[in-house]
Amino acid sequence: MRIATPSWTPHRGTALDVALEVLINGPVSRAQIARRIDLSAGSLTRLAQPLIESGLLVEMGEQASGHVGRPSRLLDVVAESRHFIGVKLTGDSALGVVTNLRAQVITQARAPLASREPEAVVVALAELVSELRKSVSEVTAVGIGIGGLVSPDGTVIAAPFLEWTDIALGARLEAAIRLPVVVANDLVAFTEYERWFGGGRNLERFAVLTLGAGIGYGLVAGGRVVQSDDAGLGLIGHWPIDPYGPLCEAGHRGCARTILTQSAISGAVSEALNRTVSYDETLDLAEAGDAAARTVVDNAARGLGHLLAAIANLTMPELVILGGEGVGLVSAAEASIRQGIAERRDPRAAEVPLLSTSGDDAEWCRGAAVLALQAHVLGTDAQVGADQRESPPLQGDVAHVAPVN
Ligand SMILES: [Zn+2]
Repeated sequence: MRIATPSWTPHRGTALDVALEVLINGPVSRAQIARRIDLSAGSLTRLAQPLIESGLLVEMGEQASGHVGRPSRLLDVVAESRHFIGVKLTGDSALGVVTNLRAQVITQARAPLASREPEAVVVALAELVSELRKSVSEVTAVGIGIGGLVSPDGTVIAAPFLEWTDIALGARLEAAIRLPVVVANDLVAFTEYERWFGGGRNLERFAVLTLGAGIGYGLVAGGRVVQSDDAGLGLIGHWPIDPYGPLCEAGHRGCARTILTQSAISGAVSEALNRTVSYDETLDLAEAGDAAARTVVDNAARGLGHLLAAIANLTMPELVILGGEGVGLVSAAEASIRQGIAERRDPRAAEVPLLSTSGDDAEWCRGAAVLALQAHVLGTDAQVGADQRESPPLQGDVAHVAPVN
């Protein structure tokens, strides 16, 4: 059976707050929505009714209220009513996922990049999107995450791994696939996923630290991702960790990128063992008790602990989420990380709450899909010229819901 796809409207006001509360926390009781948005039961009923009639929200079951009185009816969104594509673009491939309205991954696919020429990359992305579209009845919008500087209009200002400067990727891809496209820095995308649907959901203040080929950092304060024109420069990679460490390409001694990246860790172990070992093998050797690997991994983990203590001391987060393809360091050397944190914290300070994600590549894509999803539900998807964004109304759209309030 084909699921109707109601318009996601309104895009502002308290009715939007109600819709977002259900999208992010649903299924959720009316009592909880009213409490969180500070609405009377009557106001909530008045705001929710048009959203239910439009098919955007659905009533499902009841939850005992825990005290005398009527059980509270639960509200939810139809997660499969909308689908989004999220793509992580690296120097040699594009990995894409299709998600539903809750950013849950339905399917994924990878396309190799034969060339880094913008024209060839747009063709590869269009083919990947075309392949992914086959798995669902329709796709609402596409998000692209890139490790680099991206302007709000979707122009890639600088992406060293692609050797790109000033490439209007958003506009070019949109023209090729005729779907709304959002392009943003991949760390911002990753952080937005965590804010809406991941470990940072409903938190006012949290940090994201990713380990991998580079070191990434994202910060949410006041419930919003902290934006900066410098997002994409990987500035945290230059945070000093070891005064006797190697030099980075910018001339810093022992900064985070010379100690904590996958290549730094596996490179140090390769040197000690006089053979090339991969990052995963390095962690396996450390866990198996190989002395050289154990020393390198524990030193890196202690350095990571110092960095985490700095983040905690300076930004006072409720949670630090660790991710990225190198996140295996956390489980391989958690005690050393905790030791490093303790060395740089006041002993009376609360323990820094850490949460590790799976480190799966698809996490980056899910973040990119959330960018597209947010642009859609917040009505901010006019990233490139509106004339290029005009797309035919989606089949099955129901009548526009008048803003209520
Ligand atoms: Zn540096």
